[in-house]
Amino acid sequence: MSTAAKPNLIGLDPVKLTALLESMGEKPYRARQLMRWVHRRGVLDFDAMTDIGKSFRERLARETALAPPEIVSRHDADDGCVKWIIRTASGSAVEAVYIPEGGRGTLCVSSQAGCILDCSFCATGKQGFDSNLTTAEIIGQIWHARRELDSFEDGAGPPVTNVVFMGMGEPLLNFDNVMDAVDLMLSDYAYGLSKRRVTISTAGVLPGLERMRGRTDVALAVSLHAPNDELRNELVPLNKKYPIAELLEAAGEYMSDLGESRDPLIEYTLIRGVNDHRKHARELAALLEDFPCKVNLIPFNEFNEVSYRRPSASSIGNFRKILQDAGLVVTVRTTRADGIAAACGQLTGAVRDQTRRRERMLRRGESGASSSGLIHSERGDSRQTARPRGTAR
Ligand code: SF4
Repeated sequence: MSTAAKPNLIGLDPVKLTALLESMGEKPYRARQLMRWVHRRGVLDFDAMTDIGKSFRERLARETALAPPEIVSRHDADDGCVKWIIRTASGSAVEAVYIPEGGRGTLCVSSQAGCILDCSFCATGKQGFDSNLTTAEIIGQIWHARRELDSFEDGAGPPVTNVVFMGMGEPLLNFDNVMDAVDLMLSDYAYGLSKRRVTISTAGVLPGLERMRGRTDVALAVSLHAPNDELRNELVPLNKKYPIAELLEAAGEYMSDLGESRDPLIEYTLIRGVNDHRKHARELAALLEDFPCKVNLIPFNEFNEVSYRRPSASSIGNFRKILQDAGLVVTVRTTRADGIAAACGQLTGAVRDQTRRRERMLRRGESGASSSGLIHSERGDSRQTARPRGTAR
């Protein structure tokens, strides 16, 4: 069997791993043993898996692979956040960001190299689109984070307690691979995360939202960003296909299927002079009046390719107060990891853009950025304080 044809066990969800091992004549418990070694203990060397018989370990080594994606570099921020640049098999680079907070540690993972949806305020969208990440490339982000942080079983490092699909890409456009990775995140034999602590964030891919019903019961975040269709059509072009009313209805149906009192998160990026007026806050409050949810306001994080600006602190405060006075539960996202260009909406990686979007932007003179393909954090942004460790392996 050639190396290229070997199944990569790190990217097999519990059902697929069990099926593969059964096809090799093994009992289902072998899959649980393997998952514990790989995902709970971080072991990739079959020889070290001492509760698996020697002859089967040798067969696994011959016929399968355990290959997480490669880390290109690591960047540590002063506030404890860490960003990893991870190379994909397609030749792009994507980003994963760890954000510690109290006893919690949230890992923001990418699901695609680039994004086809091209939201007007999003750094990832400006990179164009290359490819869907494989399950191994998605789960590899949490595997690497736990290894780098020394937080595998028996490790003394900070835990990864939460995973949010808020990195590069639209997770519901890579549905099957994302769901297989989610299954591993929830499995007690792998990462054992609570379903309430894994969040899929979507810009509103309705067919994907419908497929989520009955397939998973993890938390849901909806990237809304505007209180009406006219404005949302500008900020999130996907809205022209799936307008707000249909999106909220589909999100509500997913949540009500869960049969528990769980509310989706509504994400709203506040952009100065665009969607941060008092009238927008009042309109948003009216829109969400009968829609149980929590609202997360995200002050826009500025980057080179767009002229949007972050609102003032007073304007953010006014917006928040109007929503709270209307009875909504509102949080304002604190900017973290700004010094390593890992704040929300800043993730860019280095995408082998198949859409030529970036090229078209440059031709039209819309971008002040070079097309050199350098990662965002290495573009000489004056705010950078990253300390790349160069952990390429
Ligand atoms: S905000 Fe999300 S869906 Fe929109 S372009 Fe960026 S990554 Fe894609």
